Amino acid sequence: SEEIKLVVFGSGGVGKSALIVQLIQGVFVECYDPTLEDSYRKELTIDGREVVLDILDTAGQEEFHTLRDQYIRHAEGYVIVYSINNRNSFDEVETFIKQILTTREVEEEQFPNAASEAAIVIVANKCDLENERLVPVDEAKKLAAKYGGFTFFESSAKSKSNVQETFVAAAKEVVAK
Ligand code: GDP
Ligand code: MG
Repeated sequence: SEEIKLVVFGSGGVGKSALIVQLIQGVFVECYDPTLEDSYRKELTIDGREVVLDILDTAGQEEFHTLRDQYIRHAEGYVIVYSINNRNSFDEVETFIKQILTTREVEEEQFPNAASEAAIVIVANKCDLENERLVPVDEAKKLAAKYGGFTFFESSAKSKSNVQETFVAAAKEVVAK
């Protein structure tokens, strides 16, 4: 069946690995090696089509070399994660967006329509920690709209909210492009 290559980006500690482990194994991990970079496979049926998601979990070691560019070129779809209780992690989201678009040779004039050029899903994770929220949901929606309407979800790897939805949406965007 058709293979769809996704990569998950985001600051350290936002829950990238927890989201992937929740998707693949159906469990919430409290403690996951923050340096672990690995790829995972998940079979899914999307609109009646059998697909295999090939999901690369990143760990930030790629930050200072060209590895991130290679990951971007290798993948077809991107999940960019921040956590609602970490302001810095939200500020990083736009850095990832710009790097993905630039590496995929999307012209800067096209950035306001980037959603039709690149399969990017923005994820606000740890939404179970509402009482620790530092990033209002409106700000994330505004950021998604600035690029022509990237898909946006609030998720929780802990409470299983929007985990499968996030990866299905990313896969659907790849299929649609
Ligand atoms: P990564 O560095 O982005 O891969 O982050 P991890 O997946 O290793 O998660 C970092 C920490 O946040 C771990 O202690 C996780 O248990 C915790 N975590 C991840 N997702 C959630 C979530 O949705 N809710 C809560 N409360 N904690 C989470
Ligand atoms: Mg991790």
